[in-house]
Amino acid sequence: MARYRDAVCRLCRREGGKLFLKGDRCFKPSCAIEKRGTQPPGMHGATARRKVLAGYGQQLREKQKVKRIYFVLEKQFRNYFEKASRQKGITGENLLFMLERRLDNVVYRAGFSTSRRQARQLVNHGHIFVNGSKVDIPSFQTKLGDVVTVKETTVKNPHVEGAWQTAVGRGRPNWISSGGNTDLSAKVSALPTRADIDPTINEQLIVELYSK
Ligand code: SF4
Repeated sequence: MARYRDAVCRLCRREGGKLFLKGDRCFKPSCAIEKRGTQPPGMHGATARRKVLAGYGQQLREKQKVKRIYFVLEKQFRNYFEKASRQKGITGENLLFMLERRLDNVVYRAGFSTSRRQARQLVNHGHIFVNGSKVDIPSFQTKLGDVVTVKETTVKNPHVEGAWQTAVGRGRPNWISSGGNTDLSAKVSALPTRADIDPTINEQLIVELYSK
């Protein structure tokens, strides 16, 4: 079998699980993790044993994984952590809740795009509106009751339409309600809970890392 060279999918294999970085393909049998399992990438991936990480190494890997899932750089990630630790509640969960409520994530979760990367582009390029006003800041924190829509001319964009229909089948998280099959609008109808977020994330490891 030819070596699998897709740079983005290598990140999933490096982290040992699906990070959903590639849009539609992540939900198909052609996903590299579905095809090849979680063996590490590279020439010796098939024979290399995944190192059993402990302590610092494990904490670092978990942070990398979450940064890659949400497509956030170190400085911004650290800022989220600082804010999370000042909030009431459990710091690790607060961190994930802020990441989930980012506008680019809501655009993805609502089904306007098939990946967070595409969602970021839609926001950056001015296609996304919140409560009727254009918002082109991907990190914008949505709040309860916010209604997210796309620019009028974007509604018929085949990528956006296609993503919306895919999301109908894939399902949306409980905290986002959609306008329906033909009404491309989504509402933050509740705040995300831990049960709505990837159960494979161990946010406590990130808290431990930053608390050193
Ligand atoms: Fe590639 Fe998506 Fe599968 Fe990750 S989840 S390996 S990005 S297809």
